[in-house]
Amino acid sequence: MSNQHLVAVVGAGPAGIYGARKLTEAGHRVVLINRDIKPGGLAEYGIFVDKEKMKTGLRKQFKRILADPKVFYLGHVMVGQNQPLSLKDLQDMGFGAVVVTAGAQGTKKLGIEGEEAVGVYHAKDVVYHFNSLPPFAERQFEIGRRVAIIGMGNVMVDIANWLLNLKKIDEVVVVARRGPLEKAYDDSEFEYIDMYLDNADMKQEIERISGSLTAVGQDVAAITQKMVRQGEPLEGRRLTFRYLCSPNKVVANAQGRVAVLEAEENEMVLQDGKTVAKGTGKTRRIEVDCVIYAIGDQVDASLGLPFSRGAFVTNPEKLAGEPNPAVYQPYDPEQKKALDGIFVAGWSRNASVGLVGVAKKDAELGMKVVNEYLANKAGLSAGEMEAKIEGLIGTLKQKGVTVVTKPGVELLEGAEQEAAKARKTWDFKYTSDEKMLEVIAARRAGK
Ligand SMILES: Cc1cc2nc3c(=O)[nH]c(=O)nc-3n(C[C@H](O)[C@H](O)[C@H](O)COP(=O)(O)OP(=O)(O)OC[C@H]3O[C@@H](n4cnc5c(N)ncnc54)[C@H](O)[C@@H]3O)c2cc1C
Repeated sequence: MSNQHLVAVVGAGPAGIYGARKLTEAGHRVVLINRDIKPGGLAEYGIFVDKEKMKTGLRKQFKRILADPKVFYLGHVMVGQNQPLSLKDLQDMGFGAVVVTAGAQGTKKLGIEGEEAVGVYHAKDVVYHFNSLPPFAERQFEIGRRVAIIGMGNVMVDIANWLLNLKKIDEVVVVARRGPLEKAYDDSEFEYIDMYLDNADMKQEIERISGSLTAVGQDVAAITQKMVRQGEPLEGRRLTFRYLCSPNKVVANAQGRVAVLEAEENEMVLQDGKTVAKGTGKTRRIEVDCVIYAIGDQVDASLGLPFSRGAFVTNPEKLAGEPNPAVYQPYDPEQKKALDGIFVAGWSRNASVGLVGVAKKDAELGMKVVNEYLANKAGLSAGEMEAKIEGLIGTLKQKGVTVVTKPGVELLEGAEQEAAKARKTWDFKYTSDEKMLEVIAARRAGK
């Protein structure tokens, strides 16, 4: 009896691709199903556009993993409820296990008054836009000259980098609930934008909040020394911070466009040793043309797994094994049991947490759990697996989906590399699915 299985992995970002390698190393075959035509997820469409070394390095690794004949790639296929394929369809087709590594595609909003105004955007959409992911690549973003970014992590830095260095807007105002020491961005990342920091404004801002910093035992002089440098912002483009501010309203102008972001001023208090923001009731008005939420993402509930507070619910039990297998198992809180044969990993398990290395490690540990699960299940013969893959492609064709497999991705990548060379840039991407499909068809026809 075969102990090899066919595993469906939904999402070909870092977690899905590195995870696929762990599954094939255990002798299984993987059908990697991906929403985007090209694999890579946020490594392709999230990591900042000019990080050439990192992006090309990851592309090379992914290419090597995908070249394994045990990995069958199906791009341009959306999985979920009301989609051509549901997770249940995949289970019913007889996959030994279904692994969800679809990242964190759900949008987290603040839920504040006026946030439907033109010019309020979510960081993920903006990042997808400047990284040329369809359909965001061709979507219009009403940016204006002055932009508030809510949040103080590395994604804020990437967006400010795009706005100041590439869009050359006048000002980015970073709005944060707490103070300078509570930043979540890395100093090495901040170097991409620190030449725009308005040092005089930063000095004033630290003075403004100094009472609150002192109240929680923070050293104002040391913070000032760290944050405030000499010199004027480069080319007059300014980066400013508004600390201790919780946005609570977007005010639109007569055309329905963002005009002002209102925020409640906070003070900081210590709670169980942690600094916590507490509203003072005082309002601050920040005049901007655009507001971008860089507050992290949540998973996509429409994938159809039990969902609560932005995350898929996983098994709360402590099971034997290292890692605890339960943390990779979706869990039905009503039935009080783990879903059989389905697993989650990467940003689908822990939304917006960590760099590529973290998603990779999480997927590798998760696939250890999947491999152990499969070891106790009867497998399929090679012929049965091939028949199932053919059946799946047939079903998708019947549903009108234009599936892109590995040869198609290679043709597309070849065309993009040639286009980059012709433009004397290191990277070039087609910005719509239609164009990509057209290019693949033309190359296939030898044009
Ligand atoms: C703006 C930004 C900048 C970053 N910069 C860096 C950096 O410089 N260095 C670094 O190491 N890390 C960086 N990261 C983090 C890194 O991108 C993530 O750690 C990693 O990509 C998460 O991997 P993942 O596979 O879990 O999810 P993702 O990369 O999001 O991949 C998910 C995949 O699932 C697919 N998918 C989604 N929904 C479906 C569906 N319903 N059906 C089928 N397929 C689906 C998508 O097409 C995608 O290919 C950055 C992240 C962001 C947001």
